[in-house]
Amino acid sequence: MQEFSSLGLSQPTLDAIEELGFETPTSIQAGAIPKLLNSESDFIGLAQTGTGKTAAFGLPLMELVDAELPYAQGLVLAPTRELCLQISNQLESFGKYRKKTRLLAVYGGTDIGRQIRQLKKGVHILVATPGRLRDLLERKAADISRIRYLVLDEADEMLNMGFRAEIDEILENAPSERTTWLFSATMSRDVRRISKNYMYEPEELVIGTVNASNKDIEHQYTIVRATEKYDILKNFIDGEEDIYGIIFCRTRRDTEKLAKMLEKDGYPAGAIHGDLNQSQRDRVMDLFRRKRVTLLVATDVAARGIDVNDITHVYHFNIPEDLNFYTHRSGRTGRAGKRGVSLILAHHREKGMIPQLERRLDIRFKHQPPPSAEVLLQRKLVKHIQGILDAPEFNILDKVLPPIQEALKEMSKEDLIYQIAASFAEKNPRYTVEHKSQPIEAGNYQRKSRDGRDSRDRGGRGGRDRRRSNNDYARLFINLGTMDLPQKGDFLGYICRSCNISGDFVGRIDMSEKYSFFDIHKTCADQVIDALDGGDYKGRPLRVNQDRPTNDRKGRRGQGGGRRR
Ligand code: AMP
Repeated sequence: MQEFSSLGLSQPTLDAIEELGFETPTSIQAGAIPKLLNSESDFIGLAQTGTGKTAAFGLPLMELVDAELPYAQGLVLAPTRELCLQISNQLESFGKYRKKTRLLAVYGGTDIGRQIRQLKKGVHILVATPGRLRDLLERKAADISRIRYLVLDEADEMLNMGFRAEIDEILENAPSERTTWLFSATMSRDVRRISKNYMYEPEELVIGTVNASNKDIEHQYTIVRATEKYDILKNFIDGEEDIYGIIFCRTRRDTEKLAKMLEKDGYPAGAIHGDLNQSQRDRVMDLFRRKRVTLLVATDVAARGIDVNDITHVYHFNIPEDLNFYTHRSGRTGRAGKRGVSLILAHHREKGMIPQLERRLDIRFKHQPPPSAEVLLQRKLVKHIQGILDAPEFNILDKVLPPIQEALKEMSKEDLIYQIAASFAEKNPRYTVEHKSQPIEAGNYQRKSRDGRDSRDRGGRGGRDRRRSNNDYARLFINLGTMDLPQKGDFLGYICRSCNISGDFVGRIDMSEKYSFFDIHKTCADQVIDALDGGDYKGRPLRVNQDRPTNDRKGRRGQGGGRRR
């Protein structure tokens, strides 16, 4: 087994690693560190989340950046605020015994003025989300003109989140003689495009199977009716002894609602989503880390960057809207060599997603029927009766009970136990209902075409205008136009980021100067309206509402950009 000391790292860095408790390098670290330290070539590292990618690029980056020079030499782009903070904290600890390298994390959703002031003090390594960095570059507050090392961390995730235009812009403006290191869990077409356009003959290191998920995760699905979904989720939770899980929902509203319902029903649940301010998020995360909350209900974006190693279960209460998100969700479990379960609660209309995920990610799903009512009721009854047996003595009962004992004297012990159990079952009807789930049969699997893609995939790749003819799309109006976002790409990126959806769900976009119409897959229309309507764009109130259905719009355009309710 390789040692950190054989990778070419300096003694101060080795001392810092030792203090962090890292004993041996992970595969991606052993493969990447010597290459990045000794070669100026561009580099692509493909590995799942949780495999130690941050140290794989962070240790060489800290070694290579010269703290004597008074300008930024390293730039790390990462998809979320959490990840930026985690990366800069880790880099800080790697550099503990070296000459002071100045690091700064910059990200959206927080005061830009403060970040500008911090930038003025000078940095050696900037860790940034693409959107905020672009803003800072536009304001000439950040300078990347002398960057020597540019790292794209979780590149697939940044592209999924619609940061494509920002990444392109940043890469185009970074000096051409830089070295680029790209890390990603999946090699999607978009990631491949970035490597083709902006990297020069990159060396590629693949850990595990590309686009495959971690083998320590058992992927499961169950088919549920919408009305039974919540009860079935609780049954799955009840069926486990020690659960420490994340439950994914699509929208902030669903996340909040589900966490409240679980809490009301006595489960230690908490919600994390984009509407929480930082101190609320920190509070929930602190409770989760201390296991006071053991069920974290989360949106995709909010859960990214959560660095907790012993998650036992990931539940997909809503199937992810972008299948690529599945890898990131399930990657929250099965970390650091521990096994985990990732379970999708799918409606029968969503059955086709399971084989699609299998093909796309090269994983196998196991059908997992909900725990049987018999097993759950028995388990709960044993606990209930134990509670009865553990009850303390009360003197007053000596006076109260005799007439009751007299009345029950004919009743056998078995009958009495039966009645106690029946009373429990009456109060907990959920444990008396058997829920069924039928496995997906071979016939349900969507038929593959000769090129191995299924019909959905092909539909999804048909381009915006082809998708536009599909009745699955709703037409939305928004009072943002080319005066705000000059290019359709900017517009698309803005919608995807603000609403936490993939670009695959956006269809045709028609922009005027002050307003636009765009098609959005019906499954996310409400989410988009919720996320944008009533919000603001650079201080101007945003209005979003639904136009007529896409096939009923003739003559509608040109009627002005006012809000129509
Ligand atoms: P990452 O994939 O960079 O997010 O790392 C996942 C987790 O593994 C983090 O908590 C790291 O601190 C930890 N880690 C990274 N490298 C090692 C290592 N060589 N030994 C032990 N833990 C590590």
